[in-house]
Amino acid sequence: MSYAVKEMFLTLQGEGVQAGRRAVFLRFAGCNLWTGREQDREKAICQFCDTDFVGTDGLGGGKFADAAALADAALGFWGDRADGRYIVLTGGEPMLQIDDALVDALHERGFTIAIESNGTLPAHPKIDWICISPKAGSDVVQRFGHELKLVWPQPGMGHSLADVDGMADWAFDHHLIQPLDDAHAQDNVRAAIALVMDRPQWRLTVQAHKYLGLR
Ligand code: SF4
Repeated sequence: MSYAVKEMFLTLQGEGVQAGRRAVFLRFAGCNLWTGREQDREKAICQFCDTDFVGTDGLGGGKFADAAALADAALGFWGDRADGRYIVLTGGEPMLQIDDALVDALHERGFTIAIESNGTLPAHPKIDWICISPKAGSDVVQRFGHELKLVWPQPGMGHSLADVDGMADWAFDHHLIQPLDDAHAQDNVRAAIALVMDRPQWRLTVQAHKYLGLR
């Protein structure tokens, strides 16, 4: 199978439990909760997206003919170091394209594989670190993994905390709250802090890459 990649680059993971870790970011094109076109945003399931995942025209992006070609390109971004190889498969929705061949090709090249997914498709069972970020109004089928990262306050979840409390039992090692980054960022940070103060099983995470000037 071929793969459509929006962009690929070497950086540090900026958020979540793995924050600060050297990582190749591989952003797949396409998402199942929004077309990525502004004219469709209002009728999309997910309406607060701030990521450009349309097309294959980003730095390091392109169409890759097979898993080996994509895994080789990822290794090229990582460079010569043999230790600590880590790749974050994101999007868009990465599970639209991840398959056995790609997972095997990345493992063969020594990568530990992380995924950042909206959870509406089952994560590939051989992925090493599963981070799910649920979106209001979607049907999350992937309810176990390593990291559940909920953007808060989230449009569509209202200010009712029933949805949050419902997720507290999902089988993740870490439950994280990430303040929504929009025009009301300060209010959102306060709301996220208040939630964590009230519900200690959740932990605050911030998008450090935005403060550090990382991509
Ligand atoms: S699910 Fe993720 S990639 Fe898709 S539209 Fe929402 S925030 Fe963007």
